[in-house]
Amino acid sequence: QLYNEVIELKGNIRVFCRCRPLNQAEIANGSSSVVEFDSSLENELQIVSSDSSKKQFKYDHVFKPEDSQEAVFAQTKPIVTSVLDGYNVCIFAYGQTGTGKTFTMEGPPENRGVNYRTLEELFRNSKERNGVMRYELLVSMLEVYNEKIRDLLVDSNQPSKKLEIKQAAEGTQEVPGLTEAHVYGTEEVWELLKSGGRARSVGSTNANELSSRSHCLLRVTVKGENLINGQKTRSHLWLVDLAGSERVGKIEVEGERLKESQFINKSLSALGDVISALATKSGHIPYRNSKLTHMLQSSLGGDCKTLMFVQISPSSADLGETICSLNFASRVR
Ligand code: ADP
Ligand code: MG
Repeated sequence: QLYNEVIELKGNIRVFCRCRPLNQAEIANGSSSVVEFDSSLENELQIVSSDSSKKQFKYDHVFKPEDSQEAVFAQTKPIVTSVLDGYNVCIFAYGQTGTGKTFTMEGPPENRGVNYRTLEELFRNSKERNGVMRYELLVSMLEVYNEKIRDLLVDSNQPSKKLEIKQAAEGTQEVPGLTEAHVYGTEEVWELLKSGGRARSVGSTNANELSSRSHCLLRVTVKGENLINGQKTRSHLWLVDLAGSERVGKIEVEGERLKESQFINKSLSALGDVISALATKSGHIPYRNSKLTHMLQSSLGGDCKTLMFVQISPSSADLGETICSLNFASRVR
């Protein structure tokens, strides 16, 4: 497969940066964009500080505000489809709340994002391999909030069970009891994603608020059988909409919010530590420092493929957080 050769050449960890457009409110209050792009270069951007000094950042790809969901998926497709060849894959959306993590991964119904397009492509691609390979696709959806794992596909009449990570005999990490739904087509997937999304907001007064404080993970399990030599594979593709990376202001931080922030900080820095340890081929990879990295252990490292979308805002008001996110992204590269 040509696609995978291309990935091999570039290594297993990629970082894409995506900048959202200025929104109506920002335009109305006169905010300007601090992000500059070179029209001829697809992998760098510059941040203009208030003293007009410029700082350059380079990634594997940089998406400009006007880049479409199609354009983003075109770059993502070779990575996600490698799950059909037996690779484990993790895709993350990282960034401050309001920068487009959910837009990139989920997207609005009329302009769907990576999650749906990925499933659509997996169905299409697996049909193409009919006769040589037989595939089974299973979908799970879960949330990690305050280091607790919650199944988002359980029947709403059932009490939600507390899930734990277990080490399986083969040395892989499993989540016993997690719902795995067989899926055969995109309509079904769309319904599942919607019902998982609804389950996410159960028990919270402000769905948007909560969703920015928890990690949402969609896991696609691909079981493949080579019809010619009988060889069987099982691999995972994880599509992760991370909790907002913003540092919370000192005044509002107390009680429940303080606890939430500490859990988010801990898990995002654990993720950064794991990916940068992998990128620098360091000996010890600290997977056990958070539920998120522990659960993803068998899908991060080795010959697994990792893609991080670093989402940023163009607004001068968000400059501080934007620099933090870009630095985080540079560290994992
Ligand atoms: P996050 O999940 O990071 O908190 P959202 O995905 O909810 O951010 O995006 C915040 C707002 O910005 C939403 O209204 C979303 O539709 C809009 N938005 C984000 N990225 C884009 C984009 N690339 N193009 C157009 N609108 C976008
Ligand atoms: Mg979101």
